[in-house]
Amino acid sequence: MKHLSFLTLLVSFFLFSCGSQKSANNGNSLKFATEVNPDYLKAANKNLLVTKVQCTLSDGTKSECYQIVTNSTPTDHAMGPWCPTSISQGADAGGIWLEGGKVYDVDGEFVKNMASFYKDANWKMYDAEGNINVTNTEQDCINAANPNVGEEYKNFCVECLPSYITDVSKTFLIPVKPSFQEEVINFMGAGVGRTDRGEKPSGRKPQKDDSKKKGPKPDRRESGVPSTRGIALNGVEFSAPAPVNNILSAYTLAPFDDAGGHINVHQGYHYHAATGVSYSVKQEDGHAPLIGYAIDGHAIYANLDESGKLPEGLDSCRGHDDDLRGYHYHVDAAGTNNFINCIHGAYAN
Ligand SMILES: [Zn+2]
Ligand SMILES: [Zn+2]
Repeated sequence: MKHLSFLTLLVSFFLFSCGSQKSANNGNSLKFATEVNPDYLKAANKNLLVTKVQCTLSDGTKSECYQIVTNSTPTDHAMGPWCPTSISQGADAGGIWLEGGKVYDVDGEFVKNMASFYKDANWKMYDAEGNINVTNTEQDCINAANPNVGEEYKNFCVECLPSYITDVSKTFLIPVKPSFQEEVINFMGAGVGRTDRGEKPSGRKPQKDDSKKKGPKPDRRESGVPSTRGIALNGVEFSAPAPVNNILSAYTLAPFDDAGGHINVHQGYHYHAATGVSYSVKQEDGHAPLIGYAIDGHAIYANLDESGKLPEGLDSCRGHDDDLRGYHYHVDAAGTNNFINCIHGAYAN
């Protein structure tokens, strides 16, 4: 059955993608898609304010969305640590780093070996006593995340602490009932700016001319497509890939904690990897657990199923469908600094 339904999906892709370049086809859908379940969000973080509101989607349709207001602070796990303070410390004193598809513990040894790890003798984030250079004020964490980071932050481990983000409030709008369009929507470009917030859009929504679009402008940024991939069940953002090349080229390291998250003062706490730490909903059939929702409302599941197997037959967005769950996504492996590649459903403007 799984194969049959995937075949149907393939065939419909083929038919529609060869047919024309016309705009989104609202009538085209898979067998079904499961609605967002707000109970999971409340169970993962009782501080989330979840309400049903009217919304206009990117394809111009009026719809219902869940408005999720969060202070970006998970209650299901601790945040940090990120930077160890000495090269003699073990993995429990630091977070993780993502490189080449792999997850590395940022322990003292990792920091000690950065010059050989990156084959660049300019790396040396510690002094003669083995103390690691760590940003230790809010101003440092803001300065070190500036695109024109000064020499003074070269060879610093950058961390922003939860105490800096006491007044962050974020609102997400997620369609209650996800749609399925044959043309995928690519996210805004990622990894361009020095910081997450500094990322410049480079992707473009493929469907139609913005000038012909009904309804309000989808976003203040040029492309209109948000960079946010979705949210974890606990309300923490699944962000665009961290701009690691820019971080590294300034000889700074901005580690993620063991849950795959870190803080910047504008976004608050956010994830760049799903490491299996945040609240999840076990699936009775051994399928990978539910971990969140994409901005188009389709469910996001973990990378691996209960027996450690990768999902099969994923499309270009990392989605597929099955008889129990309908269409849904699976996140990329934690080491890839990526969640999903695109969305198949309309998102809320
Ligand atoms: Zn980030
Ligand atoms: Zn699946």
